[in-house]
Amino acid sequence: MGERRIEATLQEATDTQNVNIGAGALASLPGVFREGFGDSPAIVVADRITFEVAGKEVQRRLERAGHTMIEPYVFPAEPPLYAEYANIEKLRDSLREHDAIPVAVGSGTLNDIVKRSAHECERPYMCVGTAASMDGYTAFGASIEKDGLKQTLSCPAPRAVVADLEVLKDAPGGMTASGYADLLGKVTSGADWLIADALGVDKIETTGWALVQDHLREWTGSPAELRAGDREATRYLIEGLIMSGLGMQSYQSSRTASGAEHQFSHLWEMEGLGKDADPPLSHGFKVGVGSVAIAALYERVLERDLGSLDIAALRESWPTREEMERSVRAQHTSPDLEEGAVEQTLAKYISADELGQRLRLLGEVWPQLRAKVRAQLMPAEQIREMLQAAGCPTGPGEIGLGWEDFAATYARAQTIRKRYTVLDLALEAGILEECVDELFAPEGFWDRMFLREGDE
Ligand SMILES: [Zn+2]
Repeated sequence: MGERRIEATLQEATDTQNVNIGAGALASLPGVFREGFGDSPAIVVADRITFEVAGKEVQRRLERAGHTMIEPYVFPAEPPLYAEYANIEKLRDSLREHDAIPVAVGSGTLNDIVKRSAHECERPYMCVGTAASMDGYTAFGASIEKDGLKQTLSCPAPRAVVADLEVLKDAPGGMTASGYADLLGKVTSGADWLIADALGVDKIETTGWALVQDHLREWTGSPAELRAGDREATRYLIEGLIMSGLGMQSYQSSRTASGAEHQFSHLWEMEGLGKDADPPLSHGFKVGVGSVAIAALYERVLERDLGSLDIAALRESWPTREEMERSVRAQHTSPDLEEGAVEQTLAKYISADELGQRLRLLGEVWPQLRAKVRAQLMPAEQIREMLQAAGCPTGPGEIGLGWEDFAATYARAQTIRKRYTVLDLALEAGILEECVDELFAPEGFWDRMFLREGDE
């Protein structure tokens, strides 16, 4: 079933022509390579660990099938490979010495580095996934730190992806759990897109929406089995992650798969949260905690009637452009992040008049919008339980963040991306601060979760 869904999607995909997921899928590699690249020479790019796990096997299979192979490019295992631009320059310069097609053997970071390096050499590439750890395999763009800012550098997705379930199910448990959290984050990111759509900020594009959302409940439905290494649960997960990447490829934007929960993750990432941990705190784990946080915020927001706001008073107290810039600067201490946040916030700044118009529109659409968003979401507590069952962290303490910094993340995350989310809605409706206060008050969501943990 899943294979058919992916096949149908590939008919429309711009970059990726072939995806092969299955137990023993590595056997298909020589054929997939030949279909994509003919008789071109190949070079395996891996890190020390992924080279052992699958890279050697990939090398052997391609060699045996008669492909010309260049000496593999293997990054060291220690320190863990980081998605920074210096690594792209290194690999790119090396790739320029020949014309072989890169075969990335690894997961998120490695794939992103190869994706962008191959693009800078104007060369297509393919990827052999070693963990169901994130949704970037088939996504357009690479998430890379450049000039102190984590950014999505544009580059096409791989021409082909092979993911062998026998390899994926033996990946470190934390990596699979990270992929699960990245996928479950589409629950809140979908809600954010519904809001942006209803307010005319960012219209829903039905193909990109359907690829990510139509089967999300099915893909994320068996977290405990996934944790136990079940092959079918792993298949669901990787299918969801691949389809989610194809959604981004189709829409040429991460809007399909990333909302406020990702803004939490990006902010923490740019501030280096868990960067020196062993293993470093993953993208998915940050997204997971962000998803619980945003689902809990949604519960506070949806309880209110945003159809009867005092629009005149909200217009009156709306900050000017200059005031908005000052407030953003006051919330950030890292200079690069501060500049980036000012740029992003001002790109989505609206005047008091425009705020009035938007809030009037909100008043009209609120009853339907509220119902749609409720149907899209799950209770925050349920998201938390599902993440826990999969082996993911669900609160700030588990990712090394203090409660105060965590509470401040709600307002700060709103500033770092121009993408419109529930954080913007709450800010514009004048309820962000009070909603966050409620979440952290005695008997509020975080207090209840925290107390319950203490009781156990
Ligand atoms: Zn993600």
